[in-house]
Amino acid sequence: MRTITLEEHFLADSFKEKMSSIATNAGKGSKTVAANALQAKLSDLGEMRLKDMDAGGIDFQVISHTASSILPSSAEESVRLARAANDQLARAISAHPDRFAGFATLPMLDPKAAAAELERAIHLPGFKGVMINGTTNGRFLDDPSFLPIFERAVALDVPIYLHPAEPPEVVRKAYYSGFDAGVNYALSAAGWGWHSEVGIHVLRLILSGLFDRLPTLQIIIGHMGEMIPFMLARINDRFIDVAKNLQQSVPEYFLQNFYITTSGFFTNPPLLLALQIMGADRIMFSVDYPYSTNEQGRAFLDHVSISPQDKEKISHLNAARVLKLKDA
Ligand code: CA
Repeated sequence: MRTITLEEHFLADSFKEKMSSIATNAGKGSKTVAANALQAKLSDLGEMRLKDMDAGGIDFQVISHTASSILPSSAEESVRLARAANDQLARAISAHPDRFAGFATLPMLDPKAAAAELERAIHLPGFKGVMINGTTNGRFLDDPSFLPIFERAVALDVPIYLHPAEPPEVVRKAYYSGFDAGVNYALSAAGWGWHSEVGIHVLRLILSGLFDRLPTLQIIIGHMGEMIPFMLARINDRFIDVAKNLQQSVPEYFLQNFYITTSGFFTNPPLLLALQIMGADRIMFSVDYPYSTNEQGRAFLDHVSISPQDKEKISHLNAARVLKLKDA
């Protein structure tokens, strides 16, 4: 069975330099062995990554820049960092076009520059869409200033992958504090907060009427649908009488304008739920390398009890169709 994965990350040299200058200025430098090993995997776009893919049964990765907690000091710096990251990824894809494709990273501090970088990046070798990480300066993407990015994605006919990121500080303080630092962080991030925030982000995009304005826009979200499939009937019940600005019901937009991936979710119940709610044409396999292992993802896919036809769609056919992958 062929496997294509879509939420696989790297850390660009441009961002790494910025991070190490921040760490040096703050007097921090020591990292755990596990953190160093993770950073080594994130930084590699060649031999180590391909070895991990071969060992874990992954044929093709669509690679994106990892969500970074560093804030560029200006819009100009954000453009410079994004361009350097996209150019670095393009070089790796050119070296391995049969194994890699990419989602571009955008300078979100300046939405017009982000739309321009989207267009530039899509013309680099192997770029098939973009990834956006969470809010920008506390603003969700339904803020009208971000519309040029969505319009450009539609004009270029490429999807946007909406990925979690650290919540704004006011949210962290109000919702994700009161325990020790490790627990606070897990609560705000992969233990709950990231996923609920992407779920809210999805609802805000739908409720803003974005998909009436841009009906062909396609958004990909990870983590088995970021809680939305589980909630969809109740969401419909609560919004059907109040979201009168919309031409369709919330579930209709979710089923027409969204794809979900399996990133980091490797148990049967949430996949079976997503299959019942969305059908096999809108679910795509992903691992979330290197934060999850390829072996874990592949073992889940190999053993899950779904029809062989659905498994082929989820493992590679949908991704090849949605991203127009020729080499995969
Ligand atoms: Ca991820």
